[in-house]
Amino acid sequence: MRMKIKFGILSLFLFLIGSVMVVGEEKLPNDIRWIRQSTEHRTLCEQLFRQATVAIIRKVKTEKNSDNLAVVVDLDETVLDNSLYQVERWKAGLSFTQDSWSEWVNREETGLVPGAKEFLKALRKKGVRVVFLSNRMNHNLEPTRENLRLLGVLDPDDLFLLRLDKNDLKEVRRKEVTDGTGRMKKIGPLNVIGYVGDQMGDFPSGQKKEFGKTNFLLPNPMYGKW
Ligand SMILES: [Mg+2]
Repeated sequence: MRMKIKFGILSLFLFLIGSVMVVGEEKLPNDIRWIRQSTEHRTLCEQLFRQATVAIIRKVKTEKNSDNLAVVVDLDETVLDNSLYQVERWKAGLSFTQDSWSEWVNREETGLVPGAKEFLKALRKKGVRVVFLSNRMNHNLEPTRENLRLLGVLDPDDLFLLRLDKNDLKEVRRKEVTDGTGRMKKIGPLNVIGYVGDQMGDFPSGQKKEFGKTNFLLPNPMYGKW
């Protein structure tokens, strides 16, 4: 009888320990886990940035006027890896909010998307201007710049077109870059020879056939307008 009770207590103890371990080791959702842990994600991003580098440098060589060449690059999930923000929100059982996002941006703790650093370096070496066109709010420009500096991917010649308000769509800012208007008046029109982003909104519309040539799309299964 005593043996049975002892065995019962031991079984219950082991069951409880096991349960705690399962909860403690709860797997991240597939999308976040793929970004943070898979070799496939890393390899895919590096592959894409290598292909983009080759294509853009080829264009630099064929352009007659190489003075005002530029590439328009998105920031989040293109150069900056915010998967830690996603992990923290998921662990807390919360979803995206503008306030929590702004707090995260000001922590300046994002990682780098694999391959982005080498890509940016190669562009600058060829005299191609980098225009960071992102929907981060313009009032968060300084922490954004500082985060890029900490990651070793900020150049003094980089241009930033962050979002001023709801109406300041990416399309509006892309036009300012190519026309040399608005915020780009002092710089003048730039000849954009490449776009890199993780959302379709990062690219001029109606350019389906440009993907892999001028437009380069990174994988982001964590969020988007889908
Ligand atoms: Mg993005």
